[in-house]
Amino acid sequence: MNMSKNLLELKNISAGYEGRSVLKDVSLSIEENDFLGIIGPNGGGKTTLLKIILGLLQPYKGTISFANNVDKGIGYMPQINNIDKQFPILVSEVVLSGLYASGLNKSEECLRVQELMQEMGLLEIANKAIGNLSGGQMQRVLLARAIANKPKLLVLDEPSTYVDKRFEAKFYEQLKEINKKTAIILVSHDVGTVISTVKNIACVNENLHFHAGNDVDSSWLEEHLACPFELVGHGKIPHRILKDHDD
Ligand code: ADP
Repeated sequence: MNMSKNLLELKNISAGYEGRSVLKDVSLSIEENDFLGIIGPNGGGKTTLLKIILGLLQPYKGTISFANNVDKGIGYMPQINNIDKQFPILVSEVVLSGLYASGLNKSEECLRVQELMQEMGLLEIANKAIGNLSGGQMQRVLLARAIANKPKLLVLDEPSTYVDKRFEAKFYEQLKEINKKTAIILVSHDVGTVISTVKNIACVNENLHFHAGNDVDSSWLEEHLACPFELVGHGKIPHRILKDHDD
């Protein structure tokens, strides 16, 4: 495999739960500075794909490979509604938790936390408990935590769910800035936001349909969001789709 710029490569992955495949024959590669938006219907397998990438679920079939220990430090921003807001932890402590296993000493950690809080506009709320944050603030805290270790790959699962629309544009601008140094995989149900933010698009609906560029038109969306399992009528197949295989 040519891993010169590839950070991550999935080949012919099938995966699921209790013997039932929810992902079938999924192939994908992520390169440095990629910004991939993953869309798809509910239950289509988007989160399952993230679990495979994060090493939280083992595939039934296929291979996954990472370059340069990328998998040792993937930045991950979970869905905001999966966070227990009753948990008694301060903003600064959440950001610090992103430096787990960073190898930094205490004063370096302190500096990095300060830097992140400054960057994300969190200094004023550093000592607030997470239970008292707005959706937009929580979003920035989780993003700061996810990028704390300067990951080569950042994975975000529906980062805008339950967040005030007013904060959204700023958040996606921040992601574009982060993307200058970090490859990003963004899962979102919000097709409009995905199209205006990412560089490439994949629709996950049991299979994965890749579109190079963010200029998908409504017929592509209709076709792939409406559950087709074969890639048809989509011009050239990009190099990173490895659809056909022998078994
Ligand atoms: P998406 O993120 O696109 O909404 P998911 O990857 O969460 O889709 O789910 C894909 C399918 O797998 C769904 O049918 C869902 O019910 C099922 N599923 C997800 N997690 C589990 C689990 N832990 N055990 C059994 N089935 C699951």
